[in-house]
Amino acid sequence: MNERKTDVLVVGAGPAGLSCALELARAGAGEILVLDREKKPGGVPRLCKHQGFGIRDLHRVYSGPGYAETLLKKALAAGVQVLAETTVTEWAGEKRVFVTSPRGIEAVSARAILLATGCRERPRSARLIPGYRPQGIFNTGSLQDFVHGYGKKVGTRAVIAGAELVSYSAIHTLEKGGCRVLLMATEFERDQVYFPYTPYKWWSARLHLGIPLVTNTRISNIFGKDRLSAVELENVKTGETRRVDCDTLVLTGDWIPDHEFSRLGGLEIDQGTLGPAVDGFLRTSREGVFAAGNLLRGAEPGDAAALEGRHAASSIAAYLEKGGWPKERVKVLARDPLLWVLPNFLEPGSHVLPRGRFLFRVKEFVRGGRLSVTQGGKALFEKRFSFLGPNDSRSVGGSWARDVRPGEAVSFSLE
Ligand SMILES: Cc1cc2nc3c(=O)[nH]c(=O)nc-3n(C[C@H](O)[C@H](O)[C@H](O)COP(=O)(O)OP(=O)(O)OC[C@H]3O[C@@H](n4cnc5c(N)ncnc54)[C@H](O)[C@@H]3O)c2cc1C
Repeated sequence: MNERKTDVLVVGAGPAGLSCALELARAGAGEILVLDREKKPGGVPRLCKHQGFGIRDLHRVYSGPGYAETLLKKALAAGVQVLAETTVTEWAGEKRVFVTSPRGIEAVSARAILLATGCRERPRSARLIPGYRPQGIFNTGSLQDFVHGYGKKVGTRAVIAGAELVSYSAIHTLEKGGCRVLLMATEFERDQVYFPYTPYKWWSARLHLGIPLVTNTRISNIFGKDRLSAVELENVKTGETRRVDCDTLVLTGDWIPDHEFSRLGGLEIDQGTLGPAVDGFLRTSREGVFAAGNLLRGAEPGDAAALEGRHAASSIAAYLEKGGWPKERVKVLARDPLLWVLPNFLEPGSHVLPRGRFLFRVKEFVRGGRLSVTQGGKALFEKRFSFLGPNDSRSVGGSWARDVRPGEAVSFSLE
């Protein structure tokens, strides 16, 4: 079996992985190898044929493919080695993995590893929607692949499940695939698109195309054997159902980190984010293994993933130079109705954080609340919020984290 050795192995050539690799190469951190299972590197943006990428990291607006290509070109020019069609399948040691590609099976060992495997939308099976398994059911990722990747038509009449930002982008992909959107349905009381994206929502669905949004509603059944013929909508408050004839269903949002490889490695998984638990340096529970991007907590914009990749690069460079892994970490807890808080651990006395802040999400709409952070009854931080909504990440500064002491967990709660 072929054996490769490198200084840093990056798993995943999306914005997080490529940005990390680029920074490391620019910093002269040795040999950097990036592996991706897809035919082309670049991650999800490769198939997002709309504008809106790269604002906070490259300070320009790119289309998804333009952004992916720019990051890839920069990384290659800086001396990063990128191998496509190469899937990392198994751990073969502390910092050694097996990979499979058209070249066969190889082993790769590295001094440090970054996991940047991204996230995906929960499929129909995980959403527990009963019925047959006909053609015509997509998530936004597979829809994009179908329409933009293979230039295929999807159907003629679609229902979109979900009403977050990505759900609105599905409208445009469906239009491109020659399919009319009949309605959007969300289990929440309203859509989950917030400022500054509100005009995009109005333009896309309500004003521009007149697509109705059905709230407090879930997809409760699927009809059709070979091809989808209808879906059943259920009002989650009243239990009332109705049938809508359609030949296409797009299940959007409801993200889950692509964490299988992290789990295989026995990495601690945070129960809120469902990604590998990391500290402010993006160090996982396994020495020499870091994580960044949507693997950490589901979908954020591409530039946020890229900036996390850069943050991981500085932590990896420091690790390669000085070694060391925290012996003591303090758990960060997210109390209901908070869904998760990132990072999930803190090193006592350190306030190093990705982009200098904590990120959090809520499970439900909260109107007028106070976020408070405590450790063992001691107040560390508090901030008022007039409005918080699901499927939206919010952040708070974290300079107070230097006051965290070893021992008890740090608890984030909303009152
Ligand atoms: C429909 C849609 C529209 C979007 N629109 C926007 C937008 O307008 N603006 C914006 O900023 N963001 C947008 N985003 C979000 C953006 O695409 C993501 O935030 C970004 O791609 C996350 O980067 P990442 O590097 O964390 O993961 P990804 O881009 O998902 O990359 C992860 C990579 O890891 C690879 N991988 C996974 N497992 C393995 C393995 N075992 N071995 C090898 N390789 C592996 C995958 O093949 C993939 O290439 C959109 C996302 C979607 C789905």
